[in-house]
Amino acid sequence: MNGYLIGCYLKTVFPSRRTGRRRARQIRGEGGPRLDDYRCRHCHGVHLGHPHGEATHLRSGPHGPTPVQELTA
Ligand SMILES: [Zn+2]
Repeated sequence: MNGYLIGCYLKTVFPSRRTGRRRARQIRGEGGPRLDDYRCRHCHGVHLGHPHGEATHLRSGPHGPTPVQELTA
């Protein structure tokens, strides 16, 4: 498990934090989880995720990371 898999791999990339924030608000408005936008240090795009330290998109399993949350666009 590393930072790339936690914060970048398979995540939606937004071109700007403003775009990401708008999408986060939309997800929240549809009854989804509260998400924060953040600048990715791996691909330098913007992703949505839970506050730093909470890896909710991927969870480490016996056979590698397993998606635990899917956000449909
Ligand atoms: Zn990234």
